Amino acid sequence: MKTEIIAVGTELLLGQIANTNAQWISSEMADIGLPVFRHTVVGDNFNRVAETFEQAQERSDVVIVTGGLGPTEDDLTREAANVVFKQELIEHEETMKRIKGYYDRNKIAMASNNRKQALVFSEAAVLDNPEGMAPGQIVNHQGVCWVFLPGVPREMKKLMGGKVIPYLKENNTLPSQIVSEMMHFIGIGESDLETKLHDLITNQTNPTIAPLASEGEVGLRLTATGETTEDAVDKIAALKNSILEKVGAFYYGSDDVTVEETVLDLLKERGYTLGAAESVTGGKFMEHIVSMPGASHVCQGGFIAYTEEMKEQIVQVPKFLIKEYGTISRECAEIMALNTQSLLGVDVTVSFTGVAGPDPSEGHEPGTVFIGVQFGDDKPDVHQFHLNGGRTQVRSRAVKKAFELLFHRLKK
Ligand code: ATP
Ligand code: MG
Repeated sequence: MKTEIIAVGTELLLGQIANTNAQWISSEMADIGLPVFRHTVVGDNFNRVAETFEQAQERSDVVIVTGGLGPTEDDLTREAANVVFKQELIEHEETMKRIKGYYDRNKIAMASNNRKQALVFSEAAVLDNPEGMAPGQIVNHQGVCWVFLPGVPREMKKLMGGKVIPYLKENNTLPSQIVSEMMHFIGIGESDLETKLHDLITNQTNPTIAPLASEGEVGLRLTATGETTEDAVDKIAALKNSILEKVGAFYYGSDDVTVEETVLDLLKERGYTLGAAESVTGGKFMEHIVSMPGASHVCQGGFIAYTEEMKEQIVQVPKFLIKEYGTISRECAEIMALNTQSLLGVDVTVSFTGVAGPDPSEGHEPGTVFIGVQFGDDKPDVHQFHLNGGRTQVRSRAVKKAFELLFHRLKK
């Protein structure tokens, strides 16, 4: 099943608007497991639109067209499609009634070109468009399913979601049942993950595996089709097992689960209380924790100790230690984590000290961050990172790294 999306409109080519219609439709199609192979944008030019439609008829099974259904001279989608279809264009009575009704109600004379918006292909299934004027249409032409939708995103979405998706599902253009799962990994890079799963990825057919990198983590979308839902679910489960055998240590959960929630759940499960001492992150870590429901079962509190003085006063970092190693150091992060544990009387603490930039500090480049993690009576574990990006990114990445460290420590 090959699907393509064609957006008609010179505005798109001039860069005046972005082709958000194609993006949105693609993501809807991915959700029902129908892959989109091509996005095309073509201006309001009869020959070029017609040529694009002729190519689509040859190469695709489903063609979704948006735009160019309006009343003006440059709205030429129907006429260009008729180079392929050669069908009679007829006036859709109900649509015409609605358009006339609109002008009557608003006491405006209807320009004659508005009639054009009610024109539909003689063999079309008409999709009523209560939000606008021109209806959508579905035309099956020589084995290809053509869908025409208005360009206005609000109208397009309503028709696509309400009528086209159910139509595609019902008319057996879809493989019977589709199930997908998004697996989340942390602490492993995208290329490393792909290398470790090389055999599984190159041999994929059903289910398919699509890697996806996002901020500080990697995802794998598994999509399976089957005769029945159970069949598809079984296929996913089998593949998931093979994946976990290879990279299970980095897997924290699937679908809507976040690593932050996973860490909070693991802390809760183990009955651990949590505290933090933050310098470079300025409370961002605590903010993440407290924003999650159920934080109060785990989180006791924390300190923001930004300056050298505050590190001494609030977290009792000894003066000599700062003199010897500086505040941006392994030693400082370690003592911050340790002291916070005793000051708050908690099981687990995290400490942050570093340089967010843009300027270096104490001879360290921006992005240098030390994160300390303290569990019970263990020796504090301090990790040094060199994080990329500007000030804001460095600070958020540091927080994400702390969740990564906590996750791996809790999973042990
Ligand atoms: P109308 O009946 O309103 O003229 P139409 O079907 O003729 O609708 P267009 O004239 O091509 O559609 O587009 C109408 C408006 O919808 C555009 O001005 C633009 O704002 C928006 N639009 C069109 N195509 C897209 C697209 N591919 N992505 C996002 N927005 C779009
Ligand atoms: Mg238009």
